[in-house]
Amino acid sequence: MPLTGDQRDFGTRAAARRGLSLGLAALLLLAATLSGCDRSVSTSQPAPAGELHRVKYSREVMGTLAAVTALAADEATARAAVEAAYARLADVNRLMSDYVADSEIGRINQLPAGGSLVVSPETCTCLAQALSVAERSGGAFDVTCRPLVSLWKQAGRQQRLPTDAELAEVRRRVGWQQVRLDPETRTVTIAAAGVQVDLGGIAKGFALDLAAAAMRSAGAASGLVDVGGDIVTFGPRADGTQWRIGVRHPFRDGLLTELLLTDAAVATSGLQQRFHEIDGQRYSHIVDPRTGWPVREAPSVTVVAAAGATADAWATVFSVLTVAEGQALLAEPDAPPVEVMWITGDRSAPVIDQTSGFGRHIAP
Ligand code: AMP
Ligand code: MG
Repeated sequence: MPLTGDQRDFGTRAAARRGLSLGLAALLLLAATLSGCDRSVSTSQPAPAGELHRVKYSREVMGTLAAVTALAADEATARAAVEAAYARLADVNRLMSDYVADSEIGRINQLPAGGSLVVSPETCTCLAQALSVAERSGGAFDVTCRPLVSLWKQAGRQQRLPTDAELAEVRRRVGWQQVRLDPETRTVTIAAAGVQVDLGGIAKGFALDLAAAAMRSAGAASGLVDVGGDIVTFGPRADGTQWRIGVRHPFRDGLLTELLLTDAAVATSGLQQRFHEIDGQRYSHIVDPRTGWPVREAPSVTVVAAAGATADAWATVFSVLTVAEGQALLAEPDAPPVEVMWITGDRSAPVIDQTSGFGRHIAP
């Protein structure tokens, strides 16, 4: 149920059904950090003063429901901006879904040990960001988690826990250093047999960023892109205020809180989003690459960042790390530029932790 209303623009939903196992944003950031990949980033055009037309519609993309809102000087421009956003979302799905066998990620996943593939600027940029988060998170974020995710999915279908031997075999094929990316030539190389890439923890956020950039290029003054509850906003709403975004309560119907955002992204990850059930026990779709087991601690982690890819990837990271581990990482000098809210505990005793800057995003 999308949480739209007069007041609220969008809600972070218990999101994505199956789908794209996959996810721009800080294109600016990227432009600064990557030498190859994608330099074709357009800049935004300032909104003309005066009345803006608002166009909003929903569509199924990337295995989930998306909703795109554009504000522009005239209706045709707003509509073109919404279409441009959907075209970019579709591009990311086509290139990066590991459910699509002939996507670039699908093709990478069929490479033999030592095999390489030259990928699009989009896939290159997304993978570069993913590998950088993998490194910065000490491997909590791992683009090679696909064999583990598949093993636990199969366990859910078969209603049995994986055996130690199965886990050991699969864990040998997991490790982000097994994927090499040369951004200059956009070449991805798989170092060991059976290594498989899954951009599911970042591609949705990455797609949001590409969609927002496309909307700006198409002339939108402001806009909001929501894919399965992960959201990117740019510019103000028609009345000049910030976009109002509801965060679902992880333990009951309704909202936990509302956020006010502009030129920012928000993503929520966690156990309540997607899970498998084995013997009545819920197992998250997020795996801890350090143990091979689905994560247990945080039922819900919400991350606000300048870019969708950043918010998305770090929401996954902070679902893997314990709250204490996450807080320790954020206290380091080169901590990622994100604000985080963790909800742990259970229905009867929810516990909310947040970074010191998260509060300024909460609606009064
Ligand atoms: P999200 O909902 O953004 O947290 O992403 C969850 C998806 O990311 C899963 O469905 C997997 O496809 C993938 N994934 C699971 N565990 C990890 C991990 N430790 N690091 C990176 N991606 C992961
Ligand atoms: Mg994520």
